[in-house]
Amino acid sequence: MIEVVELTKVFGAGTSKPTTVLDEIDFTVDSGEIFAVVGPSGAGKSTLARCLNLLERPTSGKVVVNGEDLTALGTSGLRDARRRIGTVFQSSSLLARRTAAENVALPLEYLGATKASTRARVADLLDLVGLADKANLYPHQLSGGQRQRVGIARALALKPSVLLSDEATSGLDPAATDTFLNLLTEVRDELGLAVVFITHEMDTIVRVADTVGRLDHGRIVEHGRLDDLVLDP
Ligand code: ADP
Ligand code: ADP
Repeated sequence: MIEVVELTKVFGAGTSKPTTVLDEIDFTVDSGEIFAVVGPSGAGKSTLARCLNLLERPTSGKVVVNGEDLTALGTSGLRDARRRIGTVFQSSSLLARRTAAENVALPLEYLGATKASTRARVADLLDLVGLADKANLYPHQLSGGQRQRVGIARALALKPSVLLSDEATSGLDPAATDTFLNLLTEVRDELGLAVVFITHEMDTIVRVADTVGRLDHGRIVEHGRLDDLVLDP
């Protein structure tokens, strides 16, 4: 599970023009739950994503995964901590000169996994996302939806506890979006991950979210179970 506690990000702190982009964000996502963060452009979604996966240091507040406060870690602990949160980015940022399988293998290689264990794990992951037969294709030979599924496989390579999806369905056609959302629910149900699904697309959240937080001007202005919320598009 992931607990976000009073997460605040101020850019330009200590200057004459500080900007509070995230203002005491609180939420908890249990294992086996999909929490959607939805909000308009400028709400703070990408800053939130970067604070959650520790690419950006919050000004204050905590990101706690399975009881461990990741924001309290030093540089060396941070490398390990990043493994607990797998991220699927917008249009997946796959390496163009590597095949699907080689892209999924990347995190395992960085970790120093053996060739045999990497090969087996990559095969399992590509199977999970339904791309076993595309292992040797390069990103430009895959559709946008297939590339995002490779992105999911790569994000899961190190067995994270949390999957973070940052505008990952933006730019996908409806069929590819469906496949992606179905995979997210599989990841929730079969692997039991806590999923944080960040998007500006209101129509996607009603299909996957268990709980929703509506982000506006850096604050969660509405928060609850999907069934209980009245969400204006
Ligand atoms: P921090 O307080 O975290 O050190 P800074 O204010 O130094 O953050 O800004 C971090 C980076 O963001 C800097 O490179 C800065 O130039 C850039 N930046 C500043 N204002 C904006 C803005 N409005 N939009 C995007 N980037 C910005
Ligand atoms: P979203 O992803 O929801 O569009 P962002 O997190 O990109 O929102 O941005 C939220 C607000 O924070 C915007 O007003 C943006 O200008 C501001 N912002 C983003 N990065 C910086 C930065 N480095 N420095 C100052 N302001 C920033």
